[in-house]
Amino acid sequence: MLDVDQKHHLHPWEHMGSWKEGERYAFTRGDGIYVYDGAGRRLIDGPAGMWAVQIGYGRKEMADAIAAQVMELPYASPWSSTTAPAAALAEKVAAMAPENLNTVMFTTGGSTAVDTALRTMQFMNNRLGRPGKKIIIAREKGYHGSTYLAASVTGKERDKSCFDFEDRLVRFLPDVNPYIRPEGMSEAAWCDAKVDDLERLIADVGPEYIGAFIAEPVLCSGGVIIPPEGYHRRTLELCRRHDILYISDEVVTAFGRLGHWFASEEVFGIEPDIITCAKGITSGYLPLGACIISDRVMERMTGADHDVLFPNGYTYSAHPVCCAAALKNIEIIERDGLLEHVRAIAPQFQERLTALESSPIIGDARGMGLLGCLEGLIDGRNTPLDVQRTLGARLDEACEARGLIVRPLINMCVFSPPLTISPEQVDQMFDILTDAISEVEEEFAET
Ligand code: PMP
Repeated sequence: MLDVDQKHHLHPWEHMGSWKEGERYAFTRGDGIYVYDGAGRRLIDGPAGMWAVQIGYGRKEMADAIAAQVMELPYASPWSSTTAPAAALAEKVAAMAPENLNTVMFTTGGSTAVDTALRTMQFMNNRLGRPGKKIIIAREKGYHGSTYLAASVTGKERDKSCFDFEDRLVRFLPDVNPYIRPEGMSEAAWCDAKVDDLERLIADVGPEYIGAFIAEPVLCSGGVIIPPEGYHRRTLELCRRHDILYISDEVVTAFGRLGHWFASEEVFGIEPDIITCAKGITSGYLPLGACIISDRVMERMTGADHDVLFPNGYTYSAHPVCCAAALKNIEIIERDGLLEHVRAIAPQFQERLTALESSPIIGDARGMGLLGCLEGLIDGRNTPLDVQRTLGARLDEACEARGLIVRPLINMCVFSPPLTISPEQVDQMFDILTDAISEVEEEFAET
């Protein structure tokens, strides 16, 4: 299987220098929090696929719900018709989202949900006769997807260097990570500084040119960065003051990762104008995303004054089989009390995570809910591990040899296991991480 794959399959984020030579896993099946590789080896899936498999692997109920919908109606054009699963899911998602967010446009994944959110802002401002109000403020290290517009607002340098993005439409704010704040600065002062960054940028660009601010509640792929207390509330206030849409990208944080359906309101106390989500909506069993739009926004782009199409959508918008999978997934999360489970188990998960900071090669161990990140450090608080030493990759190898997958990110590694993880499995996971860190520590001590 790997031979054929190497010959013909170009993977996402393929390293072109080692194309056809790079090492790959082949996973053959999954069960609970575990996946099995081609050799039959069982591994804990630390990142839950890619922050997605909330309910764990091997759920027969999901297979049954998907099969039933395939037999009933596998596809319908989303243009002028609807299907029972699409209507029911829209109602369900609107009920779970903050009170003012009641309109759902389904997409094929997270990138297309972000694209739809940004195009909604463009459409609204064009309809309101202010075509100049289009600039999007995004954040360094943020990740929002791989379509042209979603990638344009992504702030990860490595991902930006190879294409020509919509730079004229986007401005970036510097990193908000409290870990990099100057020595001695309080978290409250750091929050003031980060809110000032936004205020200054709005003043520099001119609020009449700015259409949206996009932020992940916890910035995930950039290294599980938790903003300082009050940051989201204060940035939302600034956006409201200047009529800038606040887009909360909950592609990772929605559907239970932080113990709630959505983190914006329930964890961070804000009601955004638009929420984007994907991944956990089906637990990754099938691809689906959603862009959830507030009544405030919908009112400004619909009705008698707007006799025009909203030309956005996909052949697979509201795909009935994906919607049926999402409904079953949500039913399982509700029935099995997984949100409550995450809230109950998160303290143990975070306590074990924080304990790893005692290692001399770990600079910061941070997380929230069932999200965790280890950031490497050798000497001095703000001196990241030499990139050449790639702590993430070494920890990944050492963990994998012990039966745990983590996701390496240069000198970090992140993890977000299935929400079904038990207290014993949390211990098992962190015991492996502890051992792996000791091995890597020794190796670094020798060099
Ligand atoms: N937004 C965020 C916050 C994400 O983490 C991701 C994917 N990791 C995306 C958008 C893009 O989602 P997709 O890969 O499903 O297009």
